[in-house]
Amino acid sequence: MLLEQLRSEVLEANLELVRRGLVLYTFGNASGISREQGLVVIKPSGVPYEKLKPADLVVTDLTGKTVEGNCRPSSDLPTHIELYRNFSNIGGVTHTHSEFATAWAQAGRPIPCLGTTHADYFHGPVPVTAALTTREIEDGYEKNTGVAICRAFKSIDPDTIPAVLVRGHASFCWGITVTEAAHNSVILESVARMAYYTVALASDVEPLPASLHDKHFLRKHGSKAYYGQVSGKK
Ligand SMILES: [Zn+2]
Repeated sequence: MLLEQLRSEVLEANLELVRRGLVLYTFGNASGISREQGLVVIKPSGVPYEKLKPADLVVTDLTGKTVEGNCRPSSDLPTHIELYRNFSNIGGVTHTHSEFATAWAQAGRPIPCLGTTHADYFHGPVPVTAALTTREIEDGYEKNTGVAICRAFKSIDPDTIPAVLVRGHASFCWGITVTEAAHNSVILESVARMAYYTVALASDVEPLPASLHDKHFLRKHGSKAYYGQVSGKK
C-alpha cells in the first residue's frame, strides 16, 4: 500500500475533526500530500467515519487522478489540489462545516482579530472569499472554490493565516502537516465562537492592537519564535 504513514496521519486527522465536534455525519474532509511523490491522500466520499480504515483512503496525483484506492475521493478533492498547487509550503488541508466559522462565512464577514488566541494562530483577520459567479458554480465548482481561496490570498501569506472562510459555504484550513491542519480547524472554530460572543457583547469592539497581535503571533512563529519547547533552545 502506498504512503502508509501519511494514510494513518490523514485518517487520524479526519477522526480528530469528528472527536472535536466539527463534523456532522460525513460533512468534512482532510487530506495530506507527499511533496516528494506528488501524491495526495484524501478521505473517500461519503464513507461513515466510524468505518474508515487506512486502506479506504484514496491516493491521487495532482491532477486528481486516482492512483490507489477503490472508493471515490472526497468531492472536495479539486479544492484541496488547488491549494496544494498554489500554497507551496503546506502539507495538509482540512474542511469542515463547524458552526461558528460557518456562521461567519455565511455572513460574508472576515473574523477580526479580537484577542490573543486568534493572534497566536492567525496573523491578521481570517479572510472571506468573494462569491463565485454562476459560471464558476456550474462548471468546475470545487476547483473554482480553490481558485477563489487563492484569489483571497493574493496579498496574504498563507503560511501566516492558515484558514479561510468560503463565502456562503464554510472554512478550509491548512498546515505544514495534516495533523496541524486539523488542529488549525479546531482553533479556528474556537476563535470564531469567541469572536461571535465578543461582538455580541460589544458591537463596537476594536481589533487587537497591532503590537499585541504581532507579539503573540511572532513569539510562536517565524525565526524569532520562543514560545514552547523550541528545538535547540533551553
Ligand atoms: Zn463543504
